[in-house]
Amino acid sequence: MISEIQTQVYAGRVKDKETLMLSSSGGAFTVLSDFFLEKGDAVVANVYNYQTNTSEFRSIQNKSERDAARGSKYMQSKPGEIFCEAYQWLMLNPERKLLFVGMGCQADGFRKYAEMRNIRNRVFIVDIICHGSPSPKLWKEYTESLEKRKGKITYLTFKDKRNGWKSPTAFVKINGKEVSISDYVRLFYNRCALRPSCHECPYTTTERRTDLTIGDFWHIEETIPKFYDPNGNSLFLIHTDRGEQLFNSIKDDLDYCQSDTKQCWQKNLESPTPVSEHRQEFWKDYQREGIEFIMRKYGRLHFKTRVKNKIVKIILVAGGGGITSDCISCYADYSERRAA
Ligand SMILES: Cc1cc2nc3c(=O)[nH]c(=O)nc-3n(C[C@H](O)[C@H](O)[C@H](O)COP(=O)(O)OP(=O)(O)OC[C@H]3O[C@@H](n4cnc5c(N)ncnc54)[C@H](O)[C@@H]3O)c2cc1C
Repeated sequence: MISEIQTQVYAGRVKDKETLMLSSSGGAFTVLSDFFLEKGDAVVANVYNYQTNTSEFRSIQNKSERDAARGSKYMQSKPGEIFCEAYQWLMLNPERKLLFVGMGCQADGFRKYAEMRNIRNRVFIVDIICHGSPSPKLWKEYTESLEKRKGKITYLTFKDKRNGWKSPTAFVKINGKEVSISDYVRLFYNRCALRPSCHECPYTTTERRTDLTIGDFWHIEETIPKFYDPNGNSLFLIHTDRGEQLFNSIKDDLDYCQSDTKQCWQKNLESPTPVSEHRQEFWKDYQREGIEFIMRKYGRLHFKTRVKNKIVKIILVAGGGGITSDCISCYADYSERRAA
């Protein structure tokens, strides 16, 4: 029997500094998955497939496979047959447990499946805070266009931390060289390409039915400045007694502190990402002109925006914020809310 509890909130970060640098946020996924893999349990998570340029769920049994699942991939991932595979693995390994990690919609789908197949007591379900996922077709065409011009993609990161957690660098590697994909990241943040269902997401809340939610602890430099680390900070929202048990089992591998739903506020914990006013025009352009045209039109920063962002950045850096253009709209929302 799993009981829902009043949501508990923690800021946390993996103690191991190398792992922190390799993780998108504060390394919550690595710490959680280590706990299962070290006992011989399984982890279901999302791995990028370089053959097909898609992001897909895999059942993972060792740390090197897990390491390949690290990193946020900004496209909708494919569940494939993973629910059935997880069930079959549990049937073949009756003494074992399984950790499922996916976006809110995928994790809640797995929760319902687990309840239906009577395996809920054998699985731990962790979901990830989400801004929304762009169409996987768009990403596929984007990579096809890149590969046609430059060569095969052998490495992908959306969140390299060389400039810190708040200024992630996004690139692919082709023929050993880094090729920026910041135009695609702009498309991700400008809200034109997200799937329609993401704009009506019911999981943009701190109350969920998974065991635990993880994400970025945005604005922590203001809300818990003593705990802030420029190299990454995770947010943990605990929803069930088993989630609490799980957090207690991993907390020795974390630096952590207790928090609350006010300190950890971010817009995707309150409401779905709103539809862009340019969405219709964007898809019309895409249908008429294709991927390269829309990348030129929507993936580039206009001169005025570049100047505005530069000014905002200078002001924020001078004020000790050190925030990037990706975070600027998010930061503006946050400041408005604090002022209100
Ligand atoms: C599309 C997307 C939007 C996000 N939006 C927000 C947001 O608005 N606010 C916020 O706080 N955090 C957001 N995140 C979460 C954040 O970027 C980190 O992924 C999360 O905090 C985990 O970081 P980590 O350091 O624990 O894990 P890492 O070690 O970096 O591991 C990443 C984890 O995410 C999973 N994952 C990566 N990409 C996908 C995908 N496409 N589909 C399913 N699972 C995936 C991997 O399986 C792994 O479990 C988003 C992530 C994604 C993929």
